[in-house]
Amino acid sequence: MRTRTTALLTAFLVLLVWLMAQPVGHAAGKTRALPKRYQKAPHSLKSLSVGHPNAGWQARASRLKPRRGLTIKKNSRKHCYGHPSLVKMLYRSSRDIARTAPGSVMVLGDLSAKGGGPLAGHQSHQSGRDADIAFYAKDKNGKSVQLDHFVAFGSNGKAKDGSGLVFDDWRNWLLVQSWLRDRRAGLSHIFVSRGLRGRLLKFAQSRKSFRKHLPRAQVLLKQPEDSAAHDDHFHVRIACPKGQADICHERPRR
Ligand SMILES: [Zn+2]
Repeated sequence: MRTRTTALLTAFLVLLVWLMAQPVGHAAGKTRALPKRYQKAPHSLKSLSVGHPNAGWQARASRLKPRRGLTIKKNSRKHCYGHPSLVKMLYRSSRDIARTAPGSVMVLGDLSAKGGGPLAGHQSHQSGRDADIAFYAKDKNGKSVQLDHFVAFGSNGKAKDGSGLVFDDWRNWLLVQSWLRDRRAGLSHIFVSRGLRGRLLKFAQSRKSFRKHLPRAQVLLKQPEDSAAHDDHFHVRIACPKGQADICHERPRR
């Protein structure tokens, strides 16, 4: 009897492992077109980032979920899928800011659609490696303000919409610094407008503990050359996941 139970259990486990190894849903056809090793475990179980940031797709992405210290903009809730490395980095940085500046809530815009591909309003965000994040803001008296949408700021730190809101240099730098220090995700770009980039770098000169991150900040903070200036949000991009160099391309397709 015991042997029969063991045999049944083994058969069930084998079936379960086989089922888990099968590509699911509409991504199945797409993954079948990938090199052979992606049809088998462990690659058939992993999150995949395929193609270029502006011409690509993803499979088995992680869904970013709201939690303490992190919220998702209302119209971005369907597009909050990304590679697990990106999603986990965003969780870590939101936690970081809430710890240093209690009460802070990080506001996320779009990541990618569940299966990736073109996303309205973006050139990239196609392969699960990109995410948009709102700036932290203050009122004119210096009190933290919780935004629920993206607000554009000039290089003078003032909101362009005339609301009187001010770019919170301290918290926005803390966020940049948290990404700079986080080596696990393989961060490759932090896009922001030239004016705000200059503002953040200047602010970081003010304290020794900030200054040591300046060299890396100078490399990673940049204004994109081929899209909008990013004066109302940060856009972060992570590098291709390890071991996927044959299907994932770092640079946008020209
Ligand atoms: Zn973006």
